[in-house]
Amino acid sequence: MKKITIAIDGHSSCGKSTMAKDLAREVGYVYVDTGAMYRSVTLYALRHDFFNADGSVKTAELEAAMPDIRISFKFNPETGRPDTYLNNERVEDEIRSLEVSNHVSPIAAIGFVRTAMVAQQQQMGKDKGVVMDGRDIGTTVFPDAELKIFVTASAEVRAQRRFDELKAKGMPADFDDILKNVQERDYIDSHREVSPLRKANDAIELDNSNMTIAEQKEWLMERFRERTAQ
Ligand code: C5P
Repeated sequence: MKKITIAIDGHSSCGKSTMAKDLAREVGYVYVDTGAMYRSVTLYALRHDFFNADGSVKTAELEAAMPDIRISFKFNPETGRPDTYLNNERVEDEIRSLEVSNHVSPIAAIGFVRTAMVAQQQQMGKDKGVVMDGRDIGTTVFPDAELKIFVTASAEVRAQRRFDELKAKGMPADFDDILKNVQERDYIDSHREVSPLRKANDAIELDNSNMTIAEQKEWLMERFRERTAQ
């Protein structure tokens, strides 16, 4: 069967990654979480004090450090999913903290950060057979992807999901803080100058506010079957 490129874009915390990971595992494709890449750059910036007190980024320092930031993924046989590594250190849990979530959107709005990440993403997906999730995959990274999905859900539903996820991992979580973060990231991601979050014209929209994970999975499998049968 011919391999295709699958782009899954959408708002923060709308379950894109779960859908994308499940599909990749089911059909034997490589899964790439591009949000984890922007989160890893953010973690590096936090650790190196590249934020000013007002939350803006010390861009000159970050730009000089970009060649020292190496992000990779390694398959974890225990979870059956890839873990994120920053300069060979496993950072899978740390990059999901609220502190990183609160700082990631300004980092992801910087042109030189995006150029570096997009180049790596295009390299990772050059042989097709990839499911990539993010904000600009169908518009910028792989505008020719054969299957593009744009996922959304209400901000409250998304905040609740993120809250449940953090709680389940035993990490600190406050619903109102998370909701505020989700809304702020929606705003910054949709209004930034470089590659703003928007639905590609040829993407299929999915509002999963009232869908279970199993229903989403089946819906996505059906779209995959349609596209690969053509
Ligand atoms: O998907 P996730 O919520 O982990 O992404 C974290 C942040 O990274 C997003 O809020 C967005 O600012 C940024 N991002 C992006 N482009 C992508 C993936 C993520 O700008 N392709």
